[in-house]
Amino acid sequence: MSLSYTDQNNGAWQTYLTQIDRVAPYLDADLSNFINTLKRPKRTLIVDVPIVMDDGTIRHFEGYRVQHNLSRGPGKGGIRYHQDVELNEVMALSAWMTIKTAVLNLPFGGAKGGIRVNPKELSLRELERLTRRFTSEISSIIGPQIDIPAPDVGTNPNIMGWMMDTYSSIKGHTVTGVVTGKPVHLGGSLGRVRATGRGVFVTGLEVAKKIQLPVADSKVAVQGFGNVGNEAAYLFSHAQAKIVCVQDHTGTIFNPEGLSVKALQKHVTEHGGVMGFAEAQVIADEDFWDVDMDILIPAALEGQITVERAQRLKAKIVLEGANGPTYPEADDVFVSRNIVVVPDVICNAGGVTVSYFEWVQDMASYFWSEEEINERLDKLMIQAIADVWNTAENKACSLRTAAYILACERILKARKERGIFPG
Ligand code: NAD
Repeated sequence: MSLSYTDQNNGAWQTYLTQIDRVAPYLDADLSNFINTLKRPKRTLIVDVPIVMDDGTIRHFEGYRVQHNLSRGPGKGGIRYHQDVELNEVMALSAWMTIKTAVLNLPFGGAKGGIRVNPKELSLRELERLTRRFTSEISSIIGPQIDIPAPDVGTNPNIMGWMMDTYSSIKGHTVTGVVTGKPVHLGGSLGRVRATGRGVFVTGLEVAKKIQLPVADSKVAVQGFGNVGNEAAYLFSHAQAKIVCVQDHTGTIFNPEGLSVKALQKHVTEHGGVMGFAEAQVIADEDFWDVDMDILIPAALEGQITVERAQRLKAKIVLEGANGPTYPEADDVFVSRNIVVVPDVICNAGGVTVSYFEWVQDMASYFWSEEEINERLDKLMIQAIADVWNTAENKACSLRTAAYILACERILKARKERGIFPG
């Protein structure tokens, strides 16, 4: 897999702007007057992050925090560590968070951050120094009532623990609510790590019911076997679906009879990727898109589903675990081919929903059981996908446009009612 937005000279931010342009005609005039508020980020911070490497040399990394919109509450969104991170991408990811928190009706705006770094090339101590210096550089614009980071690609609960500790050191007291996705013993929430994959599964089940696709024995292909992809694959296999194909950064494996997800998880933990897994055959990366499947779960990076791939795909449902995997023109192909796409802004919202629960629990210093969390998560996700489905039916549009209609109405109504300072 190699295609990216950069390859196409067509940034993720442009995809987001196209999505906003598509929703504008559906909005009442008193709200669409405010649409430009969604077409530019509210605040963008670019920081230099110098660290001393283990060998004594000094390296500089570029870091970002973008707050796209704060009309409905504090900023919320992950921190990505990846060698391709750049401003255009972080802006788009922050905007998708604005839409996502609004679709789920969570009391947050949208934000995102990242550092252009390959975390696999750093030692644990270097990673800690990088995280602490980055946190210190962005500390003036984050906080439990301002903007609350969380993990994304390349970051994890340990990194969130370092962020919380660094911010707390600056403030002089423990501030657990400044980040979510922390280790459970540091004010994290039960169920957070698996929440995004769970949300993908829950929304997938609801949509499968709507189009009368039996999940048991259905064929599922998953791109990306990290936090999101592996949990979604696990839950689908638990529901008797066959996980027939998995692709990650090491390659693509295929077994038409279905892979054992547990065995694959163990293999990936031991070997760092899916390649070399004994109970499957290796296929070319590009052949992933031709596999006989009912459900596709893109759960790696953005910009994966082009028009050409959308035309070849055999799936009936696409569950966007990743953010921004589908180009707008490919969306049109899916509509014309009657393939149902559950868009990222709802499909992968399980993570931010349990992040919201974590933030609430930190505020109250009172923690819930995992059963309580999963129950509340399922309830919110099922309600949100039902609202989006009904809107799509009423307006005769795709689920993505329907999700954007609901979200933009909520965001722009808040903007309108708050007014424009100084009035
Ligand atoms: P992760 O780092 O845990 O896993 C990423 C996976 O993608 C890995 O299996 C990796 O091998 C694979 N991958 C990377 N480059 C690839 C390539 N070139 N080809 C094929 N596979 C490749 O990340 P994650 O947390 O699972 O996030 C995956 C996606 O889900 C991202 O788009 C992220 O923004 C989105 N997301 C994550 C969360 C969350 O809670 N973790 C929440 C919402 C959305």
